[in-house]
Amino acid sequence: MNLTNKIALVTGAASGIGMEIAKEFLAHGACVAIADRDLDHARLAATMLDPGGSRSLSVGMDVSNEDQVEAGVDQVARHFGAIDILVSNAGIQIVGPLEEFKFSDWKTLLAVHLDGAFLTTRACLKYMYPVGSGSIIYMGSVHSKEASVLKAPYVTAKHGLEGLAKVVAKEGAAHGVRANVICPGFVRTPLVDKQIPEQARELGISEDDVIKKVMLKDTVDGEFTTIEDVARCAVFLASFPSNALTGQSIVVSHGWFMQ
Ligand code: NAD
Repeated sequence: MNLTNKIALVTGAASGIGMEIAKEFLAHGACVAIADRDLDHARLAATMLDPGGSRSLSVGMDVSNEDQVEAGVDQVARHFGAIDILVSNAGIQIVGPLEEFKFSDWKTLLAVHLDGAFLTTRACLKYMYPVGSGSIIYMGSVHSKEASVLKAPYVTAKHGLEGLAKVVAKEGAAHGVRANVICPGFVRTPLVDKQIPEQARELGISEDDVIKKVMLKDTVDGEFTTIEDVARCAVFLASFPSNALTGQSIVVSHGWFMQ
């Protein structure tokens, strides 16, 4: 699996899964734009992953803001001369029961996951279509397939990404652009660490029970998925050589969900 001379843009790459994907892409020879709404952390990640600085670029970008996405994607294309791979990964989690869910929180979550995926896709297609190739990877979730209590907007958004990927696969085919979704199970990142005490409070159970009886109860082995597991899948999808693998989703979840 070789990504030499490929230019990748990874959103939400200052932390967790996105940062590990940036690391693996660099290890496989790519140049990587580390985009995040938290520019300071994006810079820190770039310094850590690419101390020489020649194969990375940190970009401040709120993926739900059209102007920032357009400017950020243009900046990446100007800097590296192309964009071959987009990983639309930036995401947040807000948990709560539907009957109390604030409309503002609903809109914020959908904006990051769905507006973000649409805006970054549209901006990158501008650079992929003229050269006749590109690979777009959306960070879905087992929640692209399954529902859980307390996660209405997240489950809605993650299901929506599957629809977007299929449309991009169909429209992009004529231009050599593929689109796929990675669907991880629970991964110990700040996004998950934040929701363990929140879910314990909402469900009236211990944090240990949230992990064992909620998050990992349907896995085959009671194990968390790791950032490395997800990043390996991203390399596989990014480097896949043909349109045979497009419009698909890969579930990486220790068997929590089996297709
Ligand atoms: P994380 O909190 O470690 O990282 C998310 C990153 O996204 C952060 O650096 C944050 O600053 C950035 N971000 C948030 N909103 C943004 C915005 N509007 N614009 C730009 N950047 C923004 O979380 P993570 O667990 O690494 O999650 C990454 C992706 O993986 C998300 O889409 C998440 O839904 C998905 N996912 C996570 C898990 C899990 O268990 N951790 C499971 C399945 C899917």
